[in-house]
Amino acid sequence: MKQKKSPCLREIEKLQKQREKHRRLQLEIRAQRALAVNTGNPNYEIQSMIEECRRHLDCSQLSGPKPLEDHRICVCVRKRPLNQRETTMKDLDIITIPSDKVVMVHESKQKVDLTRYLENQTFCFDHTFDDTASNELVYQFTAQPLVESIFHKGMATCFAYGQTGSGKTHTIGGAFSGRDQDCSKGTYAMVAQDVFLLLKTSAYKKLDLKVYGTFFEIYGGKVYDLLNWKKTLQVLEDGSQQIQVVGLQEQEVCCVEDMLNLAELGNSCRTSGQTSVNAQSSRSHTVFQIILKSRGKLHGKFSLVDLAGNERGADNCQGQPEKTAGRSRD
Ligand code: ADP
Repeated sequence: MKQKKSPCLREIEKLQKQREKHRRLQLEIRAQRALAVNTGNPNYEIQSMIEECRRHLDCSQLSGPKPLEDHRICVCVRKRPLNQRETTMKDLDIITIPSDKVVMVHESKQKVDLTRYLENQTFCFDHTFDDTASNELVYQFTAQPLVESIFHKGMATCFAYGQTGSGKTHTIGGAFSGRDQDCSKGTYAMVAQDVFLLLKTSAYKKLDLKVYGTFFEIYGGKVYDLLNWKKTLQVLEDGSQQIQVVGLQEQEVCCVEDMLNLAELGNSCRTSGQTSVNAQSSRSHTVFQIILKSRGKLHGKFSLVDLAGNERGADNCQGQPEKTAGRSRD
């Protein structure tokens, strides 16, 4: 007959297992440390501190995103992965997303006796996305909840804001491969898809709505129509104190592909310049609008704003040489 283990024996076995696990972890850490010393990582000490801090963080809240509460304004943050250049330079990843609403920034500091330590600052947002988040997930928690509002005569706006190279265009317009952008993976495409899906539902079919797209850029204090050969436009206030972009071309679209063609055409005309972070960096603010009209009258509007990197006063023609990509329209 099999004898039951005494509680004392079980406790000893448990301690033994914990000890083995701890030893394995220590061996891994030592191996990593040896590797880093061999490869001459200058940031090794800080990197270890950050990793240690991450190990102690309570990630239990990372179980999965929860739906957003219904706010009029919602502010979200997305962390992008280190790019190849940063990885090669052994740059530090100093951002941690410990939960779906918190961003932690690890700052390296030095005491008077020259010992280094980490100062960890936390910032709260409506939603945070780590570097593994897809464009679809970001869309689901940012622009998607607004789409239906334009069918109820709403004016929705979604801004992408941040430093050059932080991933605004990647998120809003779609991933780049070299100079080509895959518009089907961006917020523009996802909004367009949902708009055309909703348009077919019985609730909105009867409204007899038509869909239009506009695309303009603001650069050096001037407004240019990206769907009309970069024609200069004027921004004026009308009789009812509404700001109007005079002469902006609105193109009717019948399907998602049409909308994406507009986005691609506009992007190819956008003013850009080369920076240290990005070979195809945006130098202008762009506004892509999806407009619903009922019998020629404005019904609802979704504006997607891709702001130029805010750190260089990018809405400024001075500084680095900019280039304007031209493309034949036929
Ligand atoms: P911004 O518009 O803010 O200047 P970009 O969207 O052009 O920045 O992004 C800069 C680079 O980083 C691009 O090469 C882009 O493909 C890459 N990138 C940005 N965000 C991500 C992400 N979440 N995943 C993978 N690559 C990304």
